[in-house]
Amino acid sequence: MKAYRADHLLLDAGWLSPGYLAVTADGLIAAAGAAPIARAEGIAGYVLPGMPNLHSHAFHRGLVGWADRLAPGQAVETLWSWRETMYRFMLALEPEDMEALAAQAYLDMVRGGFTSVAEFHYVHHQPDGRPYANLAEMSERIVAAARAVGIGLTLAPVLYAAGGIGTPPQEDQRRFLLDLDGYLALVETMRRHGTVAIAPHSLRAVPAQLLLGLLAAAPEGPVHIHAAERTEEVEECRAGLGAAPVEWLLANAGLDQRWTLVHATHITDAERAGLARAGAVAGLCPLTEANLGDGRFRLRGYRRDGGRFGIGSDANTLISVADELRMLEYGQRLHHRQRNVVVAPGEEATESPGRVLFDAARRGGAQALAQPVGAIAAGRRADLVVLDPEAPALLGQTERTALDAWVISGGMAGASPVRDVMVAGRWVVRDRRHEAEEKIRERFVAVMRRHHS
Ligand SMILES: [Zn+2]
Repeated sequence: MKAYRADHLLLDAGWLSPGYLAVTADGLIAAAGAAPIARAEGIAGYVLPGMPNLHSHAFHRGLVGWADRLAPGQAVETLWSWRETMYRFMLALEPEDMEALAAQAYLDMVRGGFTSVAEFHYVHHQPDGRPYANLAEMSERIVAAARAVGIGLTLAPVLYAAGGIGTPPQEDQRRFLLDLDGYLALVETMRRHGTVAIAPHSLRAVPAQLLLGLLAAAPEGPVHIHAAERTEEVEECRAGLGAAPVEWLLANAGLDQRWTLVHATHITDAERAGLARAGAVAGLCPLTEANLGDGRFRLRGYRRDGGRFGIGSDANTLISVADELRMLEYGQRLHHRQRNVVVAPGEEATESPGRVLFDAARRGGAQALAQPVGAIAAGRRADLVVLDPEAPALLGQTERTALDAWVISGGMAGASPVRDVMVAGRWVVRDRRHEAEEKIRERFVAVMRRHHS
């Protein structure tokens, strides 16, 4: 058992200054509260629960700087032209490249305040489309990268079978394709490595009957799916299935707390209310949705409906809890032309948007990952983030304002507010350093050199 005394400790009930924490040898929180514990090690700063990242495609980290220019022959850039660029990069990746890109992404995640991640992993086969001798080759590279960094992982191996509704897969989707038996075999193998979510890619990529067959074959555990990211996709779904994606899932798939609907950007009032009622999680990826020009989630009404959400770094163009929450908040402000639209007066005894967004996202993220994370409480995993009171954004702040200062001003030049990060009782980042960072960086740079020229 290890004991800590934090200057400021954020529990569900609010801040304790100081707060005490006992952590078991296997990395779980045994106790957290105001009662002093003998021989406790001091932690200077603001100690928060680590944030679960509910949606990542780790290898997209390798597109930073290369996918934000106008593609040749394109007059207008959207998700679809970006996807062509991404496919070209993806088609050349070898298993060791996948591992190197994922390790860099996960290193960036822990340094950005994420202590666990749901990896929505869809590149399964060799570049020519034939399966590897070990069907789980690529999935196991993701697990290896997560272990090397020390981030918690819920692997979401993706089922991908079509190029659109009623359309066969495209040639450049050959590395993704599995039938139901192959997919279930992969899921079974990966369960031996840790928590697994089933992940039908989307209603575009998984025919309705196949999706229903998958749900019948895997009746328990988390389910992740992309839904309603683009208006074109909503139209395709209306034409092909007679309903918008979220509408169809509500009517046919039994949405409940197992489900995470990634994006859910373009939804009607009825879909918004249905999603909230189901207790499913909306998987918001505000930086990626902004980068791709997708649109804005209807957060104010959804919160009024009692809806749950978490955040995901998705395309991993910028990886940071504070930046993700700030983009979410600012997107709402720009749309409504008001400030603080996510906070209801008197909410949770705080009117702090930073606190409201952070608390909602950590709870929704923990539900999405189906792991005991997202809170500092007995029985949860000891996943902690320590904000440095000496970082520029936090100078002169108190526990009352620290989360707003981090979320709104955490991008201030100088040292990042995230100073130390613990996952499952082990410090993976100390004084902003990870013990494997040089090796991870070197391998990442080698992949970038080899694949971009
Ligand atoms: Zn995605």
